[in-house]
Amino acid sequence: MATCYRNIATLVSPAEAIGELTVITDAAIVVDDGQVTWLGKDLDAPACETEVDLTGKTVIPGFVDSHSHLVFGGERSEEFASRMAGKKYEAGGINSTVSATRSATAEELRANTAGLVQELFASGITTFEIKSGYGLDIETEKLSLEIASEFTEEVTFLGAHVVPAGSESDDYTDLVAGKMLESITAKWVDVFCDTGAFSVVQARKVLTAGIAAGLKPRMHANQLSNIGAIALAVELDCASVDHCTFLDDNDIELLKNSNTVATLLPGAEFSTRSPYPQGGKLMNAGIAVALATDCNPGSSFTSSMAFCIAVAVRDMGFSVDQAIWAATKGGAMALRGNQGVLEVGSRADFVVLDAPNHIYLAYRPGVAIISQTFLQGRKVFERR
Ligand SMILES: [Zn+2]
Repeated sequence: MATCYRNIATLVSPAEAIGELTVITDAAIVVDDGQVTWLGKDLDAPACETEVDLTGKTVIPGFVDSHSHLVFGGERSEEFASRMAGKKYEAGGINSTVSATRSATAEELRANTAGLVQELFASGITTFEIKSGYGLDIETEKLSLEIASEFTEEVTFLGAHVVPAGSESDDYTDLVAGKMLESITAKWVDVFCDTGAFSVVQARKVLTAGIAAGLKPRMHANQLSNIGAIALAVELDCASVDHCTFLDDNDIELLKNSNTVATLLPGAEFSTRSPYPQGGKLMNAGIAVALATDCNPGSSFTSSMAFCIAVAVRDMGFSVDQAIWAATKGGAMALRGNQGVLEVGSRADFVVLDAPNHIYLAYRPGVAIISQTFLQGRKVFERR
């Protein structure tokens, strides 16, 4: 049965061109059987069985969060507080979450993940990726990926997150690229290639083994330093290279001539008090950029895409339109998907904002303007 959402103050969808939005004011959108079947000016809207009045509100595509770590035990608020008091962030802090994850039950991990997925819906995210990476042994990585797959198709094996305490780096890399990979099921394979995590040589080993096993590659890179990970990501046709805090001109040139999306994670710089990457500069250079939450208990415990957009606009050189493009179509491209747009034939994944236009996402930071979230036409969140 068709439903027409009418009198929409502003209806927004990303354009093909990087960073540009198509905006219709006084709009309507028709949803039938989970798909968008019509959109345009409200004056021209076709008659529908059901009509919903959205006077004064804005409709945007559901956000696509292409980078999250939702399966974990414990939390690290004390570490955050001490870091804010001056202690430096190091990749090894992950090991404390590894201990908590290994000692959690499957039910605890599943319930924690389910709670965070509800938060994603409340923040307007309708497509999301979930990584493993807090098990770092065969049994817990396998379990983490099984739990992730209960919530999303975009499941990423991140056995190479850090070297677990007590292991030797090359031995552990061999385990990840060998027995661990053989034991797990996932769509994507990821490596944290950076100082204190895995070298370019080790990352290559894990990613090529993953590709040989039928997984598609993506990478964490250039968060803490630049050890040459971008060249590897582009060479292996990674769908996305994530963080990109430290890029040189050669990296920018490589990304420009690739199908690899640069995914920026403002929550990580915010929560580790690190310099922000200049995403607007990348987009202006013609690079497809995604914004993602990086939701994880150590370095970015936010599930709010609106927060990421606000920071991107305030501190990362993005225009509002570029930031929204990156949080929708950019995220979809980072998952090699076609979500993140509203057009005839697209999935009816959309968000209603309590706002007259999309600028409010950055203009009203920290204010709950996400009113309703729809996944394939079905309401999965409504703010009371
Ligand atoms: Zn991450």
